[in-house]
Amino acid sequence: MPIKTHISGFGKFPSSITYLIDVDGENPGGDFIYRGNGMSYGDLSFSETTLSTRKHNQLIELNLTAGYVKVASGMLLLDLIKLLFEKGYTLPVLPGTLYITVGGAIANDVHGKNHVQKGSFGHHIIDFKLITENKEALICNSTQNAELFQHTIGGCGLTGFISEATLKIEQLKGNTIHEKSTPIKGLSSAIKALQNSDSLFKIVWLKNNNQGVLLEGDFTDNKTEKIHFKNPITVPFHFGGILTSKPILSFYNQLKFRTSKFEKETAIYPFLCPLDAVKDWNLLYGPKGIIQFQFTVDQTLIEAAVNSVFNWVKTSQYTVFLATIKQFGTRSSLGSISFPKEGFTFTIDVKYTAGLENQLQQLADKIIDQYRGRFYLAKDSFLTFDQLSRSYAGFNAFVDFVRNNKQLKSAFSKRTGIHS
Ligand SMILES: Cc1cc2nc3c(=O)[nH]c(=O)nc-3n(C[C@H](O)[C@H](O)[C@H](O)COP(=O)(O)OP(=O)(O)OC[C@H]3O[C@@H](n4cnc5c(N)ncnc54)[C@H](O)[C@@H]3O)c2cc1C
Repeated sequence: MPIKTHISGFGKFPSSITYLIDVDGENPGGDFIYRGNGMSYGDLSFSETTLSTRKHNQLIELNLTAGYVKVASGMLLLDLIKLLFEKGYTLPVLPGTLYITVGGAIANDVHGKNHVQKGSFGHHIIDFKLITENKEALICNSTQNAELFQHTIGGCGLTGFISEATLKIEQLKGNTIHEKSTPIKGLSSAIKALQNSDSLFKIVWLKNNNQGVLLEGDFTDNKTEKIHFKNPITVPFHFGGILTSKPILSFYNQLKFRTSKFEKETAIYPFLCPLDAVKDWNLLYGPKGIIQFQFTVDQTLIEAAVNSVFNWVKTSQYTVFLATIKQFGTRSSLGSISFPKEGFTFTIDVKYTAGLENQLQQLADKIIDQYRGRFYLAKDSFLTFDQLSRSYAGFNAFVDFVRNNKQLKSAFSKRTGIHS
């Protein structure tokens, strides 16, 4: 019998006790869910039994001529990217960390800073093999087992085990990014700056609703000597608080509040995934962890929606750190509960203290009802069934599809009432 262990997502809240076993191991019974690298923030990736996919991480086929790679789903994007980069290739869509698995990238239909031009991860899947709760192995794509394909992209692991995936790859001309950093005053300037930028990669980091920096990036054709994959700095164990670590504070300040305008040539992956420079940076927020929340709203409503969050921050006195705005383009997501939809997406980290989830539930009502917003499930630890159903058009069809699961249930699906 496996031993029970303490488990959480990246945010450290909520946490639980689980049997953590390998996906091929003997399931001790009870409800179970798959877990990639545990980098979703909330409670998507654990249950009574948690099936880790991390050892299921082989390269199956790389075909540069046809432009695809086939891998087992527990492979980290970091390992896949290193392998592709050596051959002069990359994946079209990467999130802000490479420490996630291919399975996790599909199950949350992750997006990057290039959604306007490239859509989300799901748009670049050729097919995947899904093992259902009844142990049926099915190849899924937009024509074969199409309904399963649709519910699995962004479907939070609730349709079965994504065992292998075939993904489109893209050739790189050079090995660097031309990076441009521009200080921004005011939210409306930040939103306009994102709209007016033609760069492939674009994001605004915000200090508050008046001060931020626009970061833009485009691939170059240059092959320049750079360090592309650095070992991360480690956060000291028993870390007391962000202000006690000078190197880490200076990293944060550099990242967020650059005061001067500059342009430079930089290595690709440190630009795309700056937070990967600090290992376990979630420990910076102390032992109780963080809730990060992220929502998307139409372009006409983003300024008001973000202001309402900063007003809440002011009155509630919670400690907040990172906040960003990115633009989502017109390409419709393929998953029935995929997060990206045309407009702008806002993300903020809030240090956890007891009762925060109740306050965020109230804030979410406002964002959903007043601004027609939708929250990202990869970050969720507080939404209700009713809020999900009001904000995701495909939610009820998704629930009908997964409600018959006998044991494939996560802490998230039980908390929200998708499963009893
Ligand atoms: C620092 C940081 C930056 C981030 N930046 C971004 C970003 O820019 N854009 C973005 O979209 N997201 C971002 N995220 C969120 C992250 O990309 C997602 O939460 C991702 O799904 C995590 O993948 P994982 O492998 O760790 O999966 P886990 O967190 O372990 O699991 C996530 C979900 O995937 C399911 N799952 C995992 N593997 C399988 C499988 N093989 N079969 C079936 N289901 C499976 C799990 O059941 C769970 O529901 C960020 C997270 C962090 C910590």
